[in-house]
Amino acid sequence: MELVISNLSKTYSNGVRALDSISLTIPQGMFGLLGPNGAGKSSLMRTIATLQEPDSGSIAFGDVDVLKQKEKVRQILGYLPQEFGLYPNLSAETILDHFAVLKGITNSRERKEQVQYLLNRTNLLENKKKHVGGFSGGMKQRLGIAIALLGNPKLIIVDEPTAGLDPTERHRFLNLLSELGENIVIILSTHIVDDVRELCSNMAIINKGKVALSGSPESVIENVSGKIWKRFVEKHEMQSITDNYSVISTRMIAGKPLVHVYSDEQLSDGFINIEPDLEDVYFHQISMIQ
Ligand code: ADP
Repeated sequence: MELVISNLSKTYSNGVRALDSISLTIPQGMFGLLGPNGAGKSSLMRTIATLQEPDSGSIAFGDVDVLKQKEKVRQILGYLPQEFGLYPNLSAETILDHFAVLKGITNSRERKEQVQYLLNRTNLLENKKKHVGGFSGGMKQRLGIAIALLGNPKLIIVDEPTAGLDPTERHRFLNLLSELGENIVIILSTHIVDDVRELCSNMAIINKGKVALSGSPESVIENVSGKIWKRFVEKHEMQSITDNYSVISTRMIAGKPLVHVYSDEQLSDGFINIEPDLEDVYFHQISMIQ
């Protein structure tokens, strides 16, 4: 089953056009939605999760009309929002049990089985009796995904899940996501390019409410092959480089700026052609729609 988004637009009452005619087809497997802060990722996620209405456009998940059949969507949806509150004085097990009731798992034996299974799956079994107020960021996110996985969802949406996690927690969380399998649609919204490169079979970059590009990570990298150049520059040269070249990123390496530049044509002047990576693709797209 795939998710088909067509011409989705949303302008908030303050005049911000957060979604500007978004069309995307999201197949089964892990799909990365990359974009800078303010790109419209959360607005899109919330709309797919039936939590807000667009002004126009449509979303279909298989034969379900997402914007009209909200109850049907909620039965098959697991959603981990960017921020969520958990009662600090309750244990992980109790919280998960509460959410299982809300999800409609009323048979207590079935509920208990699912809660224990998900605690185990998210590596929280040992800490299931502890109050979540004492949980680390990574443990909270894992509990969040356990909640999202209740009821065997067919469509899972996770919004910026690795922001604020340390590298170990981040890896643990991403591994968990990647184990969920290729038979469901998982949308991972993030501004961290590495999250997408490591996990996603398909992706899109959105910027200013528009789809800048979509495809597999390999294919979008292939599209800029031969067109990315690098050069160390002196700080005083920076301005003229920025004026004369299409600079997509600048990084300080041992105190010296290293610029990456996009060019269809052969560059001399000390520039070296490099094998592009997903970060080059991302920064190139973002620099085009400023
Ligand atoms: P992202 O998740 O990519 O950071 P968002 O969807 O949160 O992007 O925001 C897209 C744009 O819409 C931003 O300019 C943001 O300030 C604006 N925005 C988001 N939610 C609202 C809202 N409820 N009311 C008004 N503007 C909003």
